[in-house]
Amino acid sequence: MSNISELYGSMVFNEHTMQERLPSATYKSLLKTIRDGEPLDLEVANVVAHAMKEWAIEKGATHYTHWFQPLSGITSEKHDSFLDPCPDGRAIMSFSGKELIQGEPDASSFPSGGLRATFEARGYTAWDPTSYAFIKDEVLCIPTAFCSYTGEALDKKTPLLRSMSAVEDQANRVLALFGEPHQRVTTTVGSEQEYFLISEKDYAARQDLILTGRTLFGYPPCKGQELEEHYFGAIRPTVNEFMKTLDDELWALGVSAKTKHNEVAPAQHELAPIYTNVNRAVDENLLTMEKMRLLASRYGLVCLQHEKPFEGINGSGKHNNWSVSAGKTNLLDPGDTPMDNLRFLVFLTGVIQAVDDYQELLRMSVASAGNDHRLGANEAPPAIVSIFLGDELDAIVEALITGQEGAYNNVEKVAMDLGVAVLPNFLKDNTDRNRTSPFAFTGNKFEFRMPGSSLNLSDCNMILNTAMAKSLKEFADALEGKSGQEFEAAAIEYIRESLIKHQRIIFNGNGYSQEWEEEAAKRGLANKKTTADSLPCFIEKKSIELFEAFEVLSEAEIKSRYEVKLEKYNKTLNIEARVMKRMARRTFLPAINEYAASLAATITAIKAVSPDAPLAHQEAQLKRLLSGIDEAAGHLEALDETHHRVRDIENEQEKASAYAEEVIPLMQKLRHAIDGLERLTDRAHWPVPTYNDILFYT
Ligand code: ADP
Ligand code: MG
Repeated sequence: MSNISELYGSMVFNEHTMQERLPSATYKSLLKTIRDGEPLDLEVANVVAHAMKEWAIEKGATHYTHWFQPLSGITSEKHDSFLDPCPDGRAIMSFSGKELIQGEPDASSFPSGGLRATFEARGYTAWDPTSYAFIKDEVLCIPTAFCSYTGEALDKKTPLLRSMSAVEDQANRVLALFGEPHQRVTTTVGSEQEYFLISEKDYAARQDLILTGRTLFGYPPCKGQELEEHYFGAIRPTVNEFMKTLDDELWALGVSAKTKHNEVAPAQHELAPIYTNVNRAVDENLLTMEKMRLLASRYGLVCLQHEKPFEGINGSGKHNNWSVSAGKTNLLDPGDTPMDNLRFLVFLTGVIQAVDDYQELLRMSVASAGNDHRLGANEAPPAIVSIFLGDELDAIVEALITGQEGAYNNVEKVAMDLGVAVLPNFLKDNTDRNRTSPFAFTGNKFEFRMPGSSLNLSDCNMILNTAMAKSLKEFADALEGKSGQEFEAAAIEYIRESLIKHQRIIFNGNGYSQEWEEEAAKRGLANKKTTADSLPCFIEKKSIELFEAFEVLSEAEIKSRYEVKLEKYNKTLNIEARVMKRMARRTFLPAINEYAASLAATITAIKAVSPDAPLAHQEAQLKRLLSGIDEAAGHLEALDETHHRVRDIENEQEKASAYAEEVIPLMQKLRHAIDGLERLTDRAHWPVPTYNDILFYT
């Protein structure tokens, strides 16, 4: 095992390496930047760059890149070599502080939602020293933020970093009321990543998987996930090999991959890392996803990260476990003393307020064409945001609201002067899991379960952080100036009022049920079923006010992000509709026709030899095939016509709504007609691998 501790983080320029490699003054000054957010000066950067380069070259690196996350959400990199030719024809390897701190990628092809057109054509990248540099495939990768020259964020990381500062500032105001010194407050995230592994051979035989990441057609397999034998089951040998290599590679990159297991669906798996501060957690998740995709091919596999690769089989999510910590203290940990409990309740109430007030933004942050197939499909939380607290905590909230001790008689507790129950310790090992809740308290953190597997988690965390900063600000605004008993009493009263106001967001029942949808509507909770419906809230006044107040996003930045999301949705659906039509027209219908023709030929041949042979079955089968073909062709024509009309709509929001309301239903009709024919067609005539083939490989 000493092997693993040697391996772990070996490709990362982490604090340990910094301390080893940097002069002590430089190290201290860099640490100040990392821990306290102090600006980095060029002299320090020069020394850091030199040390980083020497380290990287020793590890075999030849190039460096500013590694960033444009609005497409996936990471981008452009490799520059360290090579610096000398006049005498030789070359040295060089890397300056300036090259470390700032880069200028030719960024004209990244989505900017019109931002760069209005301001500056170029963008620049700036080192985020809070996320460690690392070596990947002989390239030194420097995690960076990506901005326009006028300072507008063109990436996912910048607003996330800004939102972290917002929480930090406001949390410190609240902590000061509890008599605590100013300290580093960070939001922490651990993301559980689900994915499918299928054989490369099957993947290569399906245009839909290659071009859209999901199967646009496919009749359900004979066996699905009903036996529930796959979950936590023995892992296939090849998959096991893949997972082992993945762990090794991730550990070398300092990604603390911790748990791996089979998921509910056949061929589905999950990887969970140990949590870290949110900006690193996002970087690590993106690296994990990239490694999964690349390594799979070594084992003849393909890693599918789409939210819904197979209809009728569970899709893949990415649970976002979120908390706030001050130094080493988790502020969502109930704690042992009355004051710890009061602080916990302040932060807990802050989350409840944040999630209720900005439920639509949270829903928006996970909206994508792929995730629309998951949310509300009885395998993932519904499109309605609600919070699950668990019985114990719920009883305490109830008691706080009603002010009645009796309401929480069943809770093991010690009553305290202030009328708050000291939260029982067992809360911490709360295993009372409600899998149907989109936002569940799990003992000392909240688990946001709506994000889809392919999502970049920056957006939802930026929203959570900013909304949380607002809750904390309001608390601090109301309570500052009070201390001692007066503070405690006022804090309890504040919590009570806030809980009364936001109680509607708390729901401990079955989130998959029809009754909840009705109940949620009565409570006035939003239920935006599609991406097209959920995006507009981003550009509403309420949202602009929130992000501007905490300097997380400007109005222009918000609008550009909204545009990018809309465009991505529309482009995805355009591609899906095109692939679908092409496959129906050129792959499936010809194959089914061929089978029908061979069946007709069989009937004719039999009749020629034996005119009285019983052929009712064959004739009925032929009829079913022909009427199925007729039906599918009708849907294909309707889809074609509607798709062409929708594609030409100029307004992107109208186009998105038309895709959601008109095109998708026709796509479903075509799919089901073809899937019905798959069931009738001779396997030998079926032109692509079926769900049976793909999901149950050995
Ligand atoms: P599960 O939801 O599968 O039962 P766990 O409870 O083990 O899984 O944890 C899920 C994830 O939550 C892990 O990635 C873990 O590191 C993360 N996690 C644990 N504590 C915190 C915290 N304080 N902040 C953020 N994430 C956390
Ligand atoms: Mg989980």
